Amino acid sequence: MVFKCYLCEKENIFMTYYCVNCRRIKHLINLYGNRVYDVLEKVLVISETEESDGIEDVINNDIKNKREYINKSIKEHINKKK
Ligand SMILES: [Zn+2]
Repeated sequence: MVFKCYLCEKENIFMTYYCVNCRRIKHLINLYGNRVYDVLEKVLVISETEESDGIEDVINNDIKNKREYINKSIKEHINKKK
């Protein structure tokens, strides 16, 4: 028996809950948790004129977080060598 995907409610599915695309979204939610919802709200839900600013904010935050993580990792590595 064929059903509709539980998330998009458009694609036909068989023996699963999600279509291929929605399975990918589910995977990202499992990996990143609430961050997925934050990104979707900030990037997609705002008006089109503000859309690029939202994307830049998200990317800038990602860069800042990764930079802090790398700096922390380097400091921990240096401290282990002492
Ligand atoms: Zn789907």
